[in-house]
Amino acid sequence: MPPEFLPYGRQTIDDDDIQAVADVLRGAWLTTGPAVPAFEKVLAEAAGTQHAVALSNGTAALHAAMVAAGVGPGDEVLVPTLTFAASANAVLYVGARPVLCDVHPDTLLLDLDDAEAKRTPATKAIVTVDFAGQAVDADAVRSRFPDLVYISDGCHALGASLHGQPVGSLADLTCFSFHPVKPVTTGEGGAVTTDNEAMAARMRRFRNHGLDSDHRQRQASKTVFYDMIDLGYNYRLTDIQAALGTSQMRHLQHWTEDRNRVARAYDAALADVAGIEPLVQLDDRVHAFHLYVVRVAPESGRSRDDHLAALREAGIGANVHYRPVHLHSHYQRELGTAPGDCPNAEHAGETILTLPIFPGMSEDDVARVVKALHV
Ligand SMILES: *Cc1c(COP(=O)(O)O)cnc(C)c1O
Repeated sequence: MPPEFLPYGRQTIDDDDIQAVADVLRGAWLTTGPAVPAFEKVLAEAAGTQHAVALSNGTAALHAAMVAAGVGPGDEVLVPTLTFAASANAVLYVGARPVLCDVHPDTLLLDLDDAEAKRTPATKAIVTVDFAGQAVDADAVRSRFPDLVYISDGCHALGASLHGQPVGSLADLTCFSFHPVKPVTTGEGGAVTTDNEAMAARMRRFRNHGLDSDHRQRQASKTVFYDMIDLGYNYRLTDIQAALGTSQMRHLQHWTEDRNRVARAYDAALADVAGIEPLVQLDDRVHAFHLYVVRVAPESGRSRDDHLAALREAGIGANVHYRPVHLHSHYQRELGTAPGDCPNAEHAGETILTLPIFPGMSEDDVARVVKALHV
């Protein structure tokens, strides 16, 4: 019998999670009920912010953050190119221009020198991505771009921190995703954390058609009337999802610790595999290890794509995060981006490999992955 398929990431669901969802299903509110503000409270506590606004997914969270930041037509937004396309697509949704920037070769975090070089008088905001779950040096971003709105795409990094300060409180607006491979899940889901009350209010309207009240608020105040103040969408998270999220959040800290345990096991086992080099881990921050990413160097004896094929052959769901955004055909066609724009990210896109990591992954599974990397 072939060994069980080992995915690059997967969710953990326990009986308490199932019970929390069942309780909502038996109650009065399936959506826009009490479970959403309860989840937002837990998220804001974990992030160390005044506000958390839950949305239907991480992409909607990025869209809401762009609107809250006041980004619109004529504006430019600096975005690292080595990310999921949604980080940059959100800029397009509001009619602005994403300016794709290179990353540091050792950490794959945004290269602030390249961002500075690509900044123009039209630049309104900067997006950083806590790649793989490692926090960006937010102090450096703030000090070099003090007049830009700072949006963090923290979709990899719930549970991470910088100098003891949690990701979620480091930027003006931080976006999270609760897709099943992410640190905690609601099936689909997202949130933005912020200390800015006006931005939080704007995002609460934005997720509900731009209305000044939601269904439950109108029921409480015994009115049927509402005003649509600005244009919004239906980007609501349901109570079913929010209850799952609150239940999942009980595990965030020990899951983060467990992901770090798996990462340490990889670090140790890979130390004597030639040409397979983990990304640099900075020691002034807690890594969330959403992904465990290595670079494949020529000494490994195989190309990245050959390693990928060998791992897949062995039933291991290795993956590539990411092909740089500026190389996607939509970006090349619509924004005129081209190969050569971001050499570090392009080199990474051809040489990186994501290895499986999730809470509860055994040391035997780590050994199985590392064995498949031996040529
Ligand atoms: C997952 C992810 C998103 C999008 O989140 P969804 O919930 O899938 O919409 C955005 N940015 C990054 C970096 C992500 O990893």
